[in-house]
Amino acid sequence: MSRVVFLEERCKGCKLCVEVCPVGILRPSGRYNRQGYEVMEMAGVCTGCASCAIICPDVAIRVFKSGKHKGGAA
Ligand code: SF4
Ligand code: SF4
Repeated sequence: MSRVVFLEERCKGCKLCVEVCPVGILRPSGRYNRQGYEVMEMAGVCTGCASCAIICPDVAIRVFKSGKHKGGAA
């Protein structure tokens, strides 16, 4: 399964990632970073499309795509 990791201290709580996710798995977490912005969380199966990372104006999202191993042991 792919997953996203939020660099929470960069987040400004704009929720653009929540709006853009085509499978609707991002949501406000109820937690706040040191700047006082509410940070997001992943709740569901991520496709690894990276739309959230691309749209985030603060470059606060890293996407780790599920392993598609080419050759060798998985
Ligand atoms: S798009 Fe980026 S800055 Fe905006 S809420 Fe999502 S992670 Fe935070
Ligand atoms: S990578 Fe795509 S599916 Fe995964 S959380 Fe981001 S927008 Fe949603």
